[in-house]
Amino acid sequence: MPEYLMALDQGTTSSRCIIFDKKGKAVSSAQKEFEQYYPKPGWVEHNPKEIWSSQLSVTAEAMAVIGAKSTDIAAIGITNQRETTIVWDRDTGEPVFNAIVWQCRRTAPMIDRIVKEGCSDMIRSTTGLVPDAYFSASKIGWILGNVEGARKRAEDGRLLFGTVDTWLIWKLTGGKIHATDYTNASRTMLFDIRNRKWDQDLLKLFGIPESMLPEVYPSGHIFGYSDESITGGRIPIAGDAGDQQAALFGQCCFKKGEVKNTYGTGSFILMNTGKDIIHSKNGLVTTIAAGCDEDPDYALEGSVFVAGAAVQWLRDSMKMIDTAAGSGESAAAVDDSNGVYVVPAFTGLGAPYWDQYARGSVFGITRGCTREHFIRATLESIAYQSNDVFRAMEEDAKVKIRELKVDGGASANDLLMKFQADISGTVTVRPECIETTAMGAACLAGLSVGVYSDREEIRRNFTGEKRFLPDMDEKKREELLKGWNRAVKAALYWSSSEE
Ligand code: ADP
Repeated sequence: MPEYLMALDQGTTSSRCIIFDKKGKAVSSAQKEFEQYYPKPGWVEHNPKEIWSSQLSVTAEAMAVIGAKSTDIAAIGITNQRETTIVWDRDTGEPVFNAIVWQCRRTAPMIDRIVKEGCSDMIRSTTGLVPDAYFSASKIGWILGNVEGARKRAEDGRLLFGTVDTWLIWKLTGGKIHATDYTNASRTMLFDIRNRKWDQDLLKLFGIPESMLPEVYPSGHIFGYSDESITGGRIPIAGDAGDQQAALFGQCCFKKGEVKNTYGTGSFILMNTGKDIIHSKNGLVTTIAAGCDEDPDYALEGSVFVAGAAVQWLRDSMKMIDTAAGSGESAAAVDDSNGVYVVPAFTGLGAPYWDQYARGSVFGITRGCTREHFIRATLESIAYQSNDVFRAMEEDAKVKIRELKVDGGASANDLLMKFQADISGTVTVRPECIETTAMGAACLAGLSVGVYSDREEIRRNFTGEKRFLPDMDEKKREELLKGWNRAVKAALYWSSSEE
């Protein structure tokens, strides 16, 4: 059996390739950024050819660094930025338009119209999603409605749609395979997560011919083989999952009630809810979790818009710190935030508040407030916001979160992780390798080709972790939370009282 598993991690700003050994240790990696296109305010595009060429070059580079040949790679797992939409010609492989990126707001008016027509409940119960321009459906509709001749070509069966994973599988297999996995399909807003089929009513609503859509399989599945001309030999493409679901898998959250939080620019929190499809009463979305079964697990997902981005703000705009890591040192110079609360609602507040008009605010400043208190309060806001999502999840899933798995850039901050443990009353566990997204994709691929016999074998690889234990006095915790809740309420009031 070949020694390595290869993860292709296609993100929003860069393409990466990480090669893992069977123990889950990263032995080689390469990364390349690619161009972001902003044709109008609020519009975001990528060039699908640049996505592919950057992914291809990092794959070759990661192999070359350790002198690996295709015969050394047991399988490829793909993980990707979700929802981003590509449409291309079935015969020529030429994209008909740039990739419309998940962040792009150009289809917001289309979604407003659909919501006004009263489709929200149907969309929610079928797809688990809140109708929004993020998801792929309206983006496909936009391409068909705005690119000359596209609708006719789609109706004639000549165009294909794919999220980025589908595009990569198509390119890797030399145009032979047009497929995706449950997790990516569940972010298109066209997929019925209950019976795991494309939904005819939604296809009609967005005017999308079914012939454009990829075949859908479990995340751990042999989708096809890479073409010899690309990888120098055929390698099974045996794993595919959207980035957040791949991280949930890479963190070994295989059981109902297990939760991970990725602290990047924003925070993405997912809870495995087992076979239960839970429709949130608190503004969370329901999605499919990654696995190898036809009958998958489901997950609840909530996000915090501004997490690590608040630290970037301290560094780049407020000039209070030189590096993101410096935030930890400064915050550790004081015992607490001295009653200061920062609510970094720069772009509104997400779950469970859902107020797109909320704006950033700072409360509780006295003459004693120092730079260190301000920095500490900003770090703490990341934990408070995440905690609000945990509580919403617990309420929806009726499960107590006992342990939290963490990853992403800001999870490197020990002070933040300890405060998260304290304020949430939850043991917080950081794995040695915080590349859990790539690891998840590699593990899915390894499972489906038999490198791993079962998920427990993967769990045994999960070592070297650091555990942060909650030991804050209960009274103090309650007091701090009360202060945070007041701060959020005041921030919401400030934006709603504009008149
Ligand atoms: P993304 O994938 O969204 O680009 P990353 O997982 O690479 O995010 O994490 C980058 C984010 O983490 C940045 O917003 C940065 O400010 C934050 N960050 C990185 N290191 C630290 C640290 N030691 N303490 C706090 N925040 C940090």
